[in-house]
Amino acid sequence: MNIEAFFKLSYGLYIIATKNKDKLNAYIANTAFQVTAQPPQIAISCSKDNYTCGMIQSSKIFSISVLNQEAKSETIGLFGYKSGRDINKFENISYTTATTGAPIVKEDSIAWFDCRVNNMIDVGSHIVFIATIEDSDLLENKPPLTYAHYHEVKKGLAPKNAPTYIDEKVLNQSKSESTTKKYKCLACGYIYDPDLGDEENGIPPGTEFEGLPEDWLCPTCGSTKDMFDPI
Ligand code: FE
Repeated sequence: MNIEAFFKLSYGLYIIATKNKDKLNAYIANTAFQVTAQPPQIAISCSKDNYTCGMIQSSKIFSISVLNQEAKSETIGLFGYKSGRDINKFENISYTTATTGAPIVKEDSIAWFDCRVNNMIDVGSHIVFIATIEDSDLLENKPPLTYAHYHEVKKGLAPKNAPTYIDEKVLNQSKSESTTKKYKCLACGYIYDPDLGDEENGIPPGTEFEGLPEDWLCPTCGSTKDMFDPI
């Protein structure tokens, strides 16, 4: 099996948010797909380890916000690489609600769906939630962030709970070794490669990790330099 084939499947990146009793939480998913048009139904696949998963199982409501291509690494870092068990992700995030009452995040988003679960399928490590879309709207006319763009341009890797997670050790077995020293973000798995730099943030190729400005942040999740370890 060639695991790089999995990167050729196309996905978007979405903020999935829910409310259970008084608790709000959200995470980042790359699996959200419309399953029927009439009635409009959509499905998501959520890791059982995800704090949000148990919340949706009991609240049976969630929203999906479609991230735009320029979504900030801080937004992806907050929702994608931190757990609602440890922090309140909504502390500094404004949101709205529609029919179901699930919080709808507008930050870095171009469209949203308000959903009510009508079926849950246990697929082992994950629960697939199938939901009726009760409301939706457009926010901005920008291109959506695709998982391919996130992986290839933003150098983001799927966190361990994602259905599309790929073990880096397996991936790296098929890649040649470089002589320059790479550093890995412990929060999100992003790898800083001096040969590539971080051109999106003004860091030219050939810049060693030690030469990065002290206020440089992980382009994927917004973590500071002290979150990086040499690999
Ligand atoms: Fe990171």
